[in-house]
Amino acid sequence: MTKQKVTVVTGSGQGIGRAIAFRLASDGFTVVINDLNKELAESTAQELRDQGKESFAVQGNVSNRDDQFSLVKQTVEKYGRVDVFVNNAGIAQVAPLLEVREEDLEAIFKINVFGVIYGIQAVAEQMKKQDGRGKIINACSIAGHKGYSLLGTYSATKFAVRGVTQTAAQELAQYNINVNSYCPGIVGTKMWDLVDAKMAEYMGLEIGEAFKKFSEGITLGRPSDPEDVAKFVSYLASSDSDYMTGQSVLIDGGVDFS
Ligand code: NAD
Repeated sequence: MTKQKVTVVTGSGQGIGRAIAFRLASDGFTVVINDLNKELAESTAQELRDQGKESFAVQGNVSNRDDQFSLVKQTVEKYGRVDVFVNNAGIAQVAPLLEVREEDLEAIFKINVFGVIYGIQAVAEQMKKQDGRGKIINACSIAGHKGYSLLGTYSATKFAVRGVTQTAAQELAQYNINVNSYCPGIVGTKMWDLVDAKMAEYMGLEIGEAFKKFSEGITLGRPSDPEDVAKFVSYLASSDSDYMTGQSVLIDGGVDFS
């Protein structure tokens, strides 16, 4: 049991999720790390403990409903509650729509959409039983606000996350649960390494060129660090955002690709 508020961050072995985990830990949360990659999850939780923070790792696949319920169960067994659940895990795909195969669609929807819905289901059951306000925070994207060439399947999943965020906010308000999403722009993570490499193939660019090209359209003149996103998630996790729900907010440095 812990007196601190408790948060779970999915896909927090690296990238944006990892930055969110460290930020929420420094905000005073006890943080449970989840990732498909066991080693990444465990090393992140260990680093938090090395900093004197309470944390443990749960390997799991967000696209597996049982794994999501087990993640919440293990958290409650150890810490007694979940105050904030961050549905961060997600994957990208880069391909023209005419080349998208059935297995591609299944793979990305299972993680980016099914995973978010299972996370909401698992944690809402727990939050309904608790006193105090619960917060569910989902990873959306600039691609959840606008379609981009070669990112059709990814965009479809992130538009879906926006819809689910609005619905969940309406259905769960009666239980004192707020549901919002953060929508990053171009963030320098392993995900973008993959996007960049695939775009290079399709567009005949050098490695690094697509990332640079996309970054040039940012009003604030630089791509995002994971920590830029984590600062906004810190707000969504805090009581300062108690009057916000159903929103999918851009945190992208001002991307203008119109
Ligand atoms: P990343 O690839 O760097 O990290 C994602 C983490 O999620 C990895 O550790 C991976 O092992 C884990 N993961 C993948 N599938 C999983 C699954 N099925 N179950 C549990 N864990 C799983 O990605 P990132 O850039 O940090 O992205 C995090 C989130 O932010 C994603 O939802 C992504 O769509 C979104 N996002 C990223 C960007 C960006 O520019 N990087 C922009 C907008 C939105």
